[in-house]
Amino acid sequence: MTAEIKAFLLSIGAADTEDEKMVLPTLKSTAGPSAGSSGSVFIASNGRRVRLNLDKNAPLKIRKIPGTADEIAVFFQAGSDPVVTGKIEPALAHCPEQAYLNLSEKCIFDCKYCSVPILRGHTKTKEETLKIIKDAFSKGNAKAISITSGVEKTPEGELERVLELMPELKKMNVPVGVSIYPVSGGSEKLKKAGVSEVKYNIEAADPEIFKRVCSDLSETAVFDELEEAVRLFGRGKVFSNVIAGLGETDESIERMIEKLADLGVISCVRPIYENALRKNDCFMERPSKERLLKLFEAQKKISQKYDLCPEKSETMCSLCTGCDMVPGRDG
Ligand code: SF4
Repeated sequence: MTAEIKAFLLSIGAADTEDEKMVLPTLKSTAGPSAGSSGSVFIASNGRRVRLNLDKNAPLKIRKIPGTADEIAVFFQAGSDPVVTGKIEPALAHCPEQAYLNLSEKCIFDCKYCSVPILRGHTKTKEETLKIIKDAFSKGNAKAISITSGVEKTPEGELERVLELMPELKKMNVPVGVSIYPVSGGSEKLKKAGVSEVKYNIEAADPEIFKRVCSDLSETAVFDELEEAVRLFGRGKVFSNVIAGLGETDESIERMIEKLADLGVISCVRPIYENALRKNDCFMERPSKERLLKLFEAQKKISQKYDLCPEKSETMCSLCTGCDMVPGRDG
């Protein structure tokens, strides 16, 4: 898988398989814009990884390569050569090599591209959370624990939920990453509790689109806590999702990547998942391969200019790389 092929696969974002057992256990996403999708598959090839949603109607088809133990090929058009060959990677919890958990599958906010507020799922108890993490570690090869959460009642409540877990999580002796809605003073508490990296999502690159699609959130509050987090955790240890596909221009995304990089924050440029549950609520358009590659090139240059190294991330999405083009890991 080259960077170009990964960008092509991400631009489609979904695949069908000839046999569901090939990708078991399939994983239903319970966090963020793709929550509620019917499961996903991770494909590893040539040191790169991509995550594709499972969708019977997707134009990408995953087939076993006859005569091999576990090699697969991904086809775009019947009768043509495969787009890529590789292996299906098992997930430990949500993604490979990490126990990545969503604590609360509910959210009091209503970002217009996200199905979590509509699905109103389950909030895990501490015991449930620790059991999932232990089960993930029993599968071996766990490099990190990453925690995210919707907002069941208050952002402060989610911070407390994470802090209560931390004494147990630290015993696992791997880096812990936390991505929750920012709370003033929360970064200091997370740092003291032993968290390694944090992610507070700015979501929309264009301030006008942010006001429209994330009308319950405060861009200022996110930026203030990102700045505080860099002071505490250090440059390159703080992350922020920037969604591509909400109607913004490439220039606005590049400006946002640079604004974040100037603070010491690494962007995760995330192709929008056109969630069927929200299709009438805001503009959503999966970015093309060309757009993803253009934004990737811009992010690489900005990362170099500000001496940020996404490839050194120890937790969360810049370690996983399944959903985004990650400078230093994808090229
Ligand atoms: S990149 Fe992030 S959201 Fe995507 S599969 Fe990996 S951990 Fe999950």
